[in-house]
Amino acid sequence: MPISTTSARPAQRLMSADDALARILSGVPALPAVSVPLLDALGLVLAEDVSADRDVPPFRNSAMDGYAVRADDVARAPAQLRVVGEIAAGGFPDRAIGRGEAMRIMTGAPMPDGADTVVRVEDTDNRSDVVTITAATPKGLSVRQAGEDLRKGETILTSGTVVRAAEIGLLASVGKAMVRVFKRARVAVLSTGDEIVDVDAPIARGQIRDANRYSLASAIRAAGAEPWVRGIVRDTPDALRAALREAMSADAIVTSGGVSVGDHDHLKPVLSELGSIDFWAIAIRPGRPLAFGELRDGERRVPIFGLPGNTVSSLLTFELFVRPALLRMQGRRNVTRPRARARLLEPVDKIKSLRFFARGIYDADAGTVTTTGPQGSGILRSMSLANCLIDLGEGRERYDAGETVDLILTELPEPR
Ligand code: AMP
Ligand code: MG
Repeated sequence: MPISTTSARPAQRLMSADDALARILSGVPALPAVSVPLLDALGLVLAEDVSADRDVPPFRNSAMDGYAVRADDVARAPAQLRVVGEIAAGGFPDRAIGRGEAMRIMTGAPMPDGADTVVRVEDTDNRSDVVTITAATPKGLSVRQAGEDLRKGETILTSGTVVRAAEIGLLASVGKAMVRVFKRARVAVLSTGDEIVDVDAPIARGQIRDANRYSLASAIRAAGAEPWVRGIVRDTPDALRAALREAMSADAIVTSGGVSVGDHDHLKPVLSELGSIDFWAIAIRPGRPLAFGELRDGERRVPIFGLPGNTVSSLLTFELFVRPALLRMQGRRNVTRPRARARLLEPVDKIKSLRFFARGIYDADAGTVTTTGPQGSGILRSMSLANCLIDLGEGRERYDAGETVDLILTELPEPR
């Protein structure tokens, strides 16, 4: 009997998580710029500088419901002014006002010439023939100047800006119905394993439900990318080849399962046929095995991430390696989550040579953190309960209660 290639293979050299991430970030392609309808730009990165096509606001207008007046006439109260008209938002004043005159004005309505101040309605008797001003009002109060938000011609957003709700509003104010952004990554996600069945399928002995395709598809969406949910692939070269060929029209491919030592042996020939991929052993727990490379189809290069099958390992390696890669592909400069430091409330044992990402519950007010309980790589509740990862470095076997430890704040977006 031939010696199995698995047992004959020398122990894999471990790679640090930082090295793996650096290689991944330099290995993934930047997606092209595309024009999208304004609302589709949310969460994406601008690929153009945007300037104001007009002043915003475009004309002097009232910030209050009240009376447009001349400041000189309301420097002292009470004062009586003749009401010479009324102007609503969307209208335009048909005359100017002179000394001793006022015009009723609504919030957002253009100021009439001659007026420099608005007296809010609460500071008047609210009459429509002769109005009594009951509070002295300083010059310029409640008047918004033309261009006080944006000046015509001014660059208001630059390429590289992440588009959030406020940016969507700015883009709308300057008439950008279509916006140039870096493309949203369309990411194929598939599961591998003969034991895996879909969420709504009958389950036979020895089978388990597919959690990963759903958790990973959701993590893809949370990274601002678009999941393209593919199937559950049987552990055969033919099934894998067919599934990957189909998935190759995506911008990236994420698989789970089948990357542990031993599994490579049927994955490797298929992948070397379709592209190139490295199988890494990363010095972390959970999530030690990880495969990264690219599939090629003519000029197209499609990055592929082969994540481990355990439910926690796949989501955690997604967080550490795939999320930053997808963000970078979509034009994000910063792909690093915010971090914090906190006092550990319980001792944590770990393997000395591995960096351990314990799932934690961080209390920001108290400055403390606890683990979420059992930390096995198949205990997905450990992630569900967590609001952070406790990043415990290699070189130590134990972290004691009371020590200050590093956290990755996985509930907060990467600062822009
Ligand atoms: P593997 O990496 O393929 O050796 O799988 C490691 C462990 O994760 C095994 O216990 C698998 O049954 C489990 N596993 C693999 N894929 C999935 C999946 N899609 N959903 C839930 N568990 C999985
Ligand atoms: Mg498997």
